[in-house]
Amino acid sequence: MVYNFSAGPAVLPKEVLQQAADEMLDWHGSGMSVMEMSHRGKEYMSIIEAALADVRALMNIPSNYKVLFLQGGAIAENAIIPMNLAALRSPAGKHEVGVADYINTGSWSTKSIKEAGRYCTVNVAASSADRKFASIPARADWKLSRNAAYVHICSNETIDGVEYQYTPEVAADTDGAPLVADMSSHILSREVDVSKYGVIYGGAQKNIGPAGVTIVIVREDLLGHALPFCPSAFDWKIVADNDSMYNTPPTYAIYIAGLVFQWIKRQGGVAALEARNIAKARLLYGYLDSTDFYSNRIAADCRSRMNVPFFLRDDALNDTFLAGAKERGLLQLKGHKSVGGMRASIYNAMPIEGVQALVDYLKDFEKQHG
Ligand SMILES: *Cc1c(COP(=O)(O)O)cnc(C)c1O
Repeated sequence: MVYNFSAGPAVLPKEVLQQAADEMLDWHGSGMSVMEMSHRGKEYMSIIEAALADVRALMNIPSNYKVLFLQGGAIAENAIIPMNLAALRSPAGKHEVGVADYINTGSWSTKSIKEAGRYCTVNVAASSADRKFASIPARADWKLSRNAAYVHICSNETIDGVEYQYTPEVAADTDGAPLVADMSSHILSREVDVSKYGVIYGGAQKNIGPAGVTIVIVREDLLGHALPFCPSAFDWKIVADNDSMYNTPPTYAIYIAGLVFQWIKRQGGVAALEARNIAKARLLYGYLDSTDFYSNRIAADCRSRMNVPFFLRDDALNDTFLAGAKERGLLQLKGHKSVGGMRASIYNAMPIEGVQALVDYLKDFEKQHG
């Protein structure tokens, strides 16, 4: 038995992989693999339409939002977002680039800020960099711009392990700027009120499926503002008008995402997964907090339920720890190189048994080396 704690690409539900294997050579009697189908044929159209309907139902996405499948991952979106939104407040037809507000809560926000700065003026409205990203700046301390084109957050910092436990309200301070959220590493792990966001986006390879597809959920009034130099394939309006088929979409990745959406429905939907994710996080943080052999330094009110970085008291034991974990089938626990230590990513597809196996190992290792 193996449990895979990778931060991404990450564990997928075994049932999904089994179904994909069963359907690999012949999808539903079509005589074709999904990989071999025209994206415009009736077989593939039924796959993508079901995936869209399922994710809309799972996230309760209002009808005035489009769901787009793009490529390039969340990192490409760091450029695509300002290219689509930076002129939001400019006079009609002028495409004047404005100010975008960003909240810096960790490695991924830092990257988003750097990239956006190539396309527009960035105001870092709040940052926890001086606290080594161990907490999220209180909403009351954000210095938002009255005329912001949009406000960007990373709602779960995969590397640093901080997660918003609420949706920040930004419209009142900005005369209605939309909230834009990078949800790559916690989308579908908890209930979210989509109507509070202008744009939600994420790469699939954490909680949705294989790498190669990016999901963008965008309110319709935010379409049609792209800067003139925005590549057509990244202009959300063009992509939306073409039902995500302006260019060939990543067909196989979308098919697997669709199987994951069906799996989530069978689990009882996002609320059921959220309850499980809370239990998993309690189990792991609870143990880490119970001993000074291990530590997690993130403020209790913003600890991520998905990505749990932790340290051994003695760094010199790291390699021994990882080798012993691997022997027990506990894989990919090494922390990100920028943070060090360990990181356990416990996405939707990680069962509580996997977290229990990790806690059992933490205890045994401490007994041996503490
Ligand atoms: C993984 C991740 C990214 C990067 O995604 P790519 O698919 O590599 O572009 C960006 N933001 C967050 C929060 C992530 O977890």
